[in-house]
Amino acid sequence: MTLPEKVDAVNQVFAELDSRIATFQSHTGLHCQFGCGKCCFKPDIEASVLEFLPFALYLHQQKFATQWLEQLVKKNDPNCLILNPTQAGVGLCSQYKHRGLICRLFGYSARTNKYGRKELVTCAIIKSEQTAAYEAAATQIDAGLDIPVMNQVYMQLHAIDFELAQKFYPINQAIRHAIETVLQYYAYRD
Ligand code: SF4
Repeated sequence: MTLPEKVDAVNQVFAELDSRIATFQSHTGLHCQFGCGKCCFKPDIEASVLEFLPFALYLHQQKFATQWLEQLVKKNDPNCLILNPTQAGVGLCSQYKHRGLICRLFGYSARTNKYGRKELVTCAIIKSEQTAAYEAAATQIDAGLDIPVMNQVYMQLHAIDFELAQKFYPINQAIRHAIETVLQYYAYRD
């Protein structure tokens, strides 16, 4: 598979996932607070390289890849470089369309516990401020409501490129490696 084909395949996984999450949200009523973005301030977010390959290709196409790479190399604090704390709007992600898989999954996906039961993975704010909807969602999931399961979605990325999907890095390193992968790919092609 060529790099653009891999990006298309990742974007297809994202599109299907976003649609399933939207359906889950509409059935449960669970939602993020307007303008929140607190989950992006966690300094220990980890991601794979592959989930940021669409963003890296976009940067390359826009001729911003080298500039972002330089910023990532210089950056000392662990918060995601894409985070814009001063942004007004629904959230603080300056590249929402190109966010990674972990960013899409968090809040509205499940992990499977040792008994095979799907448990909703969401944030403390949703749990405490939307308790009734959160508890109702758990019941709906037990009754069969569709919810993406984290490791199953990551397996879809493994099928696209195992090497780029299997290893997790701190989020800025994952973005950096994704940009390096794109720049390397196009070094002799442009
Ligand atoms: S890519 Fe966007 S959504 Fe993901 S952690 Fe960074 S700022 Fe948050």
